[in-house]
Amino acid sequence: MAIQFSPEERNWLDRVAAAAQELGLETYLVGGFVRDKLLSRPTKDADFVCVGDALALAQRVADTLKPRPAVSLFKTFGTAHVQWKDGWDLEFVGARRESYQSDSRKPTVVPGTIQDDQLRRDLTINALAISLDPDRFGELVDPFNGLQDLQDKILRTPLPPAQTFTDDPLRMMRTIRFATQLGFTIEEGTWEGICEQADRIRIISQERITDELNKILLAEKPSVGLDLLYRSGLLERIFPQLVALRGAEYIDGHGHKDNFYHTLQVLDNLSRHTTDLWLRWAAVLHDIAKPQTKRFEKGHGWTFHGHEVVGGRMVPKIFTQLKLPLNEHMRFVRKLVELHLRPISLTKENITDSAIRRLLFDAGDDFDCLMLLCEADITSKNKQKVNRYLSNFQLVRERCREVEESDQIRNWQPPITGEVIMQTFGLSPSKPVGIIKDSLKDAMLDGVIPNTYEAAHAFMLEKGKELGLTPVSS
Ligand code: ATP
Ligand code: MG
Repeated sequence: MAIQFSPEERNWLDRVAAAAQELGLETYLVGGFVRDKLLSRPTKDADFVCVGDALALAQRVADTLKPRPAVSLFKTFGTAHVQWKDGWDLEFVGARRESYQSDSRKPTVVPGTIQDDQLRRDLTINALAISLDPDRFGELVDPFNGLQDLQDKILRTPLPPAQTFTDDPLRMMRTIRFATQLGFTIEEGTWEGICEQADRIRIISQERITDELNKILLAEKPSVGLDLLYRSGLLERIFPQLVALRGAEYIDGHGHKDNFYHTLQVLDNLSRHTTDLWLRWAAVLHDIAKPQTKRFEKGHGWTFHGHEVVGGRMVPKIFTQLKLPLNEHMRFVRKLVELHLRPISLTKENITDSAIRRLLFDAGDDFDCLMLLCEADITSKNKQKVNRYLSNFQLVRERCREVEESDQIRNWQPPITGEVIMQTFGLSPSKPVGIIKDSLKDAMLDGVIPNTYEAAHAFMLEKGKELGLTPVSS
């Protein structure tokens, strides 16, 4: 493993090295950037540690870069942030020594050596440093054999795991996140440390936890991380509703599937087709209400009636609990959870155009996402079954395309608005207006009238007459 710097990287590296030399500061490139370069992963965030005044170094570097970058100095923390062109993000921090007291989350921080600074990092692969000093430029400073761990794909804490994880319990989540993103194995002692310290996660803010959770969900195979979180005991503490899906119950020899591992497989299936975080969240939550809706019906077996509706109602609560945004992303996830059984009901025979139009109307622009979720929801081990279900969904997609082409339902706006209805019959906002609007929508979706203004207008007059209304002359 050797580091190859691009000409662009050489450009700012040389400037940092020159500025450090002018100021007489021992300086290193450190952490995630070194790790990612060694792994040939693309990265634009570089962290520098200098033994001394990082703010002065950042300022000097910024003065020599063209175009002049934006510099933010955080005096209280002794860190500085330089944002340069093309998305380059350079962070500067003075080497520090941290000591934690068990009764406080905040460490006492004092200036230290590069070794002190490497010791306070979470994993050996994140503690690698590259010297920028002129006489040893490019030399790897690797006190914990991080390079070997990188080659062996091992995640290990530099200090005894109990200490690293009690000092900052978020590191447990980070370790599992890296295991998921990089496909690395967590070293045995480090894993035991996580299992033992899992309860400490309660002192970490929800935002930081959720940030890691989202990174896990965005990995190529997110199930790896969710399973590790489950087995370590962390998931129980941060997301108990998901753990409640675990296990299968048996009555009279009838069992149901383990909905936790089913959900993980749906998530992995879906992740092969999308990197959209919110669509992935919809996979995580699609069956979340199965424990609450589970019934055993004699002679029939296990049912989960209404789990999509109850699950939909749980979405805002879970988003609030996890401090996920309560905006259109939440509404999207909720909608997909609520609709996730609908395409299945359309794989039966003799499906009317009306049922197809209703799905298109309800799913709107999220129709394609919904179909991806439904296809990912097939987790049978029987290949033939999987293929049969997939080709059924293919037929649903085709039917939907045909109906959409002729009727344009997905972004349907009623050609006759409530305003027009009120004007036509001289009404103020009242019940009959709603009745006419709803019956217009139903008539259109049921194919009673075509999707045109004229047809809708005639239908409105007809419906008004039924309700005993007379149009006012205009
Ligand atoms: P990513 O950028 O993908 O989130 P990263 O490892 O680069 O991963 P950053 O938050 O950019 O994470 O942090 C940069 C470096 O700072 C890390 O590589 C690690 O050395 C150190 N670090 C970050 N967070 C912690 C922590 N909670 N405990 C110890 N060291 C940490
Ligand atoms: Mg980083």
